[in-house]
Amino acid sequence: MQINKAEYVKSCVRAEHYPTDGLPEMIFAGRSNVGKSSFINSLTNRKQLARVSSRPGKTQTLNFYNINDMMYLVDVPGYGYAKVNRSLKESFGRMIEEYLVERDELILGVLLVDYRHKPTQEDIAMYSLYKYYEIPTLVIGTKKDKVNRSQHKKQEKLIKETLDFDENDVFVAYSSETHEGREEVLEIFEDLIKQ
Ligand code: GDP
Repeated sequence: MQINKAEYVKSCVRAEHYPTDGLPEMIFAGRSNVGKSSFINSLTNRKQLARVSSRPGKTQTLNFYNINDMMYLVDVPGYGYAKVNRSLKESFGRMIEEYLVERDELILGVLLVDYRHKPTQEDIAMYSLYKYYEIPTLVIGTKKDKVNRSQHKKQEKLIKETLDFDENDVFVAYSSETHEGREEVLEIFEDLIKQ
């Protein structure tokens, strides 16, 4: 799949604001600073599509991007900011769960984790949420260029073991610097949209 069109459409908090044209959707989640904006920009070959790192305390929304008039990429605010207060965390949780529960258009949950590290408690919670709602999941190990080739197998194993990875799901290591992993991810998207 080649991405010819990638356009911001709208930001939503509540279900009544989601797009109504029925295109399939993929949701992208990960802790702040994991490299999610860089990943979205690399994938869509745009420099500034996803704003880099939204700041804590700002209104948290689900951001919908139209990709090729074929699907929506749904960007979730990065979680795990220590400074985010509890009520914001609660509203964040409610917003995600409302989306995951209600959204028939959702065909893939993407979870970004740092390829260099063991997934955090919040990463585990997010993956579990996808599994609880039976959402097929793609786990992206970010910043692949920062991991020595000799460590690749070990890191993938650590990430999968920590997440209690479902073998029906897919793991791809990715570098937004070199775009390594890009073709593989775009192929996964294309196959899912066709189904
Ligand atoms: P976000 O908060 O998850 O959206 O993370 P950003 O995309 O803003 O990235 C956080 C930091 O990690 C930035 O300094 C990026 O330049 C850096 N970064 C993101 N992806 C990669 C990558 O694949 N390789 C390297 N070397 N750095 C990356």
